[in-house]
Amino acid sequence: MDGLVPAIVQDAISGKVLMQGYMNEEAVAKTKESGMVTFFSRSKNRLWTKGETSGNFIELVSMTSDCDGDSILVKANPRGPVCHTGSDTCFEEVNTSKTGFIDQLRAIIKDRKTNPTDTSYTASLFAKGINKVAQKVGEEAVEIVIEAKDDNKELFMGEAADLLYHYLVLLEAKGYELDEVMDVLIDRHKKK
Ligand SMILES: [Zn+2]
Repeated sequence: MDGLVPAIVQDAISGKVLMQGYMNEEAVAKTKESGMVTFFSRSKNRLWTKGETSGNFIELVSMTSDCDGDSILVKANPRGPVCHTGSDTCFEEVNTSKTGFIDQLRAIIKDRKTNPTDTSYTASLFAKGINKVAQKVGEEAVEIVIEAKDDNKELFMGEAADLLYHYLVLLEAKGYELDEVMDVLIDRHKKK
């Protein structure tokens, strides 16, 4: 196909498929160099950086070719709606879920455990040991209970984030995966 391969663009956080375009070597190079996803447009017959007119650029996170090297998976962060119709994706899907960020956060937490740095709060928690981590989860749980009784969304969200973060640190400290918790939930759901 004249050196063109299909490039599938996936939201790096939500995992949603955003769009598909074609890339040649130049488009791949331009994408890497600029950090903005760039295709070869067959209708324009030139390189086309997505967002060059709309301002809705797609920021590159990573690019990998598939098993036999005839397509590219681009993981990226869209700055706005991807489709020219104004839709979040070219497949008319809503792309609002950010829960995929939990996996990125877990990877960071795991990294802080294996490669601790002096400035990392997460690394300092691991250094203090399991009792301290578990105690923090207890404290954050009490704090969210207190905020739940009030009506301040900002404070409640702060505590909700603290609890989720420390819960993930506790799982990592125990050497367990969030997937194992999901297995328990999936299993319970099956029995009903
Ligand atoms: Zn579209």
